[in-house]
Amino acid sequence: MGTLSALEIYKLTPKTNCKKCGKTTCMAFAMSLVKREVKPEDCPPLLEAKYAAQLLQLKQLLGPEKKEGGGTTEIDAEKCDGCAVCVVVCPVSGREEFATLSGKGPRCPPDPTLIYQVVDGKCKILQLDHCRRFESTGEEKNCRICEKACPQGAITIKE
Ligand code: SF4
Ligand code: SF4
Ligand code: SF4
Repeated sequence: MGTLSALEIYKLTPKTNCKKCGKTTCMAFAMSLVKREVKPEDCPPLLEAKYAAQLLQLKQLLGPEKKEGGGTTEIDAEKCDGCAVCVVVCPVSGREEFATLSGKGPRCPPDPTLIYQVVDGKCKILQLDHCRRFESTGEEKNCRICEKACPQGAITIKE
């Protein structure tokens, strides 16, 4: 994320300058994205089906935001070998894309509610909004299934 440029992000916006996000231009929105002042979903056109691939790429580039209280999940790219065990074991994958349970998913672009996707041999976190740690109540909030299952110890869940 350190070397991510606003121009790189801008290229993935709709580039129509429609102002629906409250910014005057898509470049202004891209600059706010880099500073984490806004989320890709704050651009209404990006939620349209025709921009699904661009929305996914933006999420992959930006990575997960820190959640309330500072909790987040990180992948050590040096350790990750792209085995996709995390994709298969995460209960959210099975719930949103049943095919992942048999190792056949996720489709590309995946359902935007999925947490993990392996891209070019490395695991990417698409978003954490639907991780049970942030979305659920009760015992599910303590979920660490992916962290425990990763054979390389590449996943770190931070409280
Ligand atoms: S809503 Fe999206 S397309 Fe419209 S100006 Fe903002 S970033 Fe650009
Ligand atoms: S289970 Fe671990 S090593 Fe395998 S893809 Fe996920 S993060 Fe990478
Ligand atoms: S903590 Fe649980 S719900 Fe969250 S990504 Fe890991 S396996 Fe999925």
